[in-house]
Amino acid sequence: MTIENIKDIVDDELFNKLLLGTIDPTQEIILKILKKASKKKGLSLEDVAALCNCTDPVLIAKIFEFAYKIKQDIYGERIVLFAPLYISDFCVNDCEYCNFHCRNNSPRRKLSLEEVASQTKALVDMGHKRLLLEFGEHPVENPIDYVVDTINTIYKTKSKNGEIRRVNVNIAATTVENYRKLKEAGIGTYQLFQETYHRPTFEKLHHGPKAKYERQLFAHNKAFEAGIDDLGIGVLYGLYDWRYEVLALVSHAAYMDKTFGVGPHTISVPRFQETPGVDFKPPYPVSEDELLKIVAILRLAVPYTGMIISTRERPEIREQAFKLGISQTSAGSRVEVGGYDENSKPVTKSPKDDGCGQFTTHDPRTLDQIVISLCDQGLLPSFCTACYRSLRTGESFMEIAKPGNIHNFCRPNGILTFKEYLLDYASPLAKQKGEKLIREYLDKIPSKKRREETMERLARLEKGERDLYF
Ligand code: SF4
Ligand code: SF4
Repeated sequence: MTIENIKDIVDDELFNKLLLGTIDPTQEIILKILKKASKKKGLSLEDVAALCNCTDPVLIAKIFEFAYKIKQDIYGERIVLFAPLYISDFCVNDCEYCNFHCRNNSPRRKLSLEEVASQTKALVDMGHKRLLLEFGEHPVENPIDYVVDTINTIYKTKSKNGEIRRVNVNIAATTVENYRKLKEAGIGTYQLFQETYHRPTFEKLHHGPKAKYERQLFAHNKAFEAGIDDLGIGVLYGLYDWRYEVLALVSHAAYMDKTFGVGPHTISVPRFQETPGVDFKPPYPVSEDELLKIVAILRLAVPYTGMIISTRERPEIREQAFKLGISQTSAGSRVEVGGYDENSKPVTKSPKDDGCGQFTTHDPRTLDQIVISLCDQGLLPSFCTACYRSLRTGESFMEIAKPGNIHNFCRPNGILTFKEYLLDYASPLAKQKGEKLIREYLDKIPSKKRREETMERLARLEKGERDLYF
């Protein structure tokens, strides 16, 4: 890839010029941008720079108000739940912010396929239907065939009424040939973060194969070439100026849209959190208020891209982020290899106690506790995996999402998968709150025909059928 190609995504000069040229935007400018955002066609980089530079609390409240409205219009009330599954922490890289860096002398671990099956069972018995697999980069310990065997094992594992229906994967940037193997194994989203788009910072903080900036930046191109069209991007906030990173993310999303004919499927918003074993101090710490602003700006700038928040954040911040734009979240997460116990609950010890997790989490609640909390917020916990399994991925997913048709799918599918959770896994309190919520949202399905079909499928679930979706 040439410098020119890089500039198609990361135009350092342009980003700095836009950020300098939009300092202290007036009320008139912000309101004009918000009016444009409400058309749900996205925003220019200059608009995004102005929003990032807005510091007036009254105008920030306006930004939040518009982000909330767009979130409601496009995604409605659903929050899709998933869990990370750490498969191997062997890694040849030395990324300064990550506890799996190769200088860390703690014993390493990778799961055998039997252990993969038992961890999967524990997650299925909790109620999960979607996983995000995490592997360190290690050509000997984590070759692509091991990754593929792991995915096959997960899809084959059944427990009682449940199984994992979508496996998303996070592996290091690799070759088109390897991505083809992932595609053949039936992955959902391939997720890879740039961590920081600011090249000097990227090169300073990474040592090992991951230090190749272009390899990371163009990994999604290779994955797309291999046929993977659900792609996830993100940065780790705290490494560089968040305003620059947000511009770069929006620019990357526009590049993908133009080059692949489909933008990113998801954008994640992880924030660096202090972790034992990592002495890195973030040079550009991002506050919780800034994180919420990031979520709101991304919602306005790339309205059709799903947005993910993890258990790195406190429950209170996650709740606010759900309103401003987040559509997916991890729940009941463990961030070390083999972290789920056989009693189907996340073990209660924190990574602080053993120092072996990738980072420190700040939401220790179980999946069931998070489900109850979502019900209390009037949000619909969804375990839906329907689009990917109905081949609504990439461009065909966007063709449904953009005209707003996703409502004909997400709400009924959210209700049906939540009902499965209530029947098979929920505590009595979650059952009571969840059944009430389902009744409320059934009434809100706009099409009478779709509402009746959903009711008929709910009755079939009650009788013992599973995995019904539109
Ligand atoms: Fe390895 Fe990924 Fe951690 Fe870097 S961020 S040390 S590549 S596991
Ligand atoms: Fe996601 Fe499609 Fe399910 Fe909606 S219907 S929650 S877009 S998988």
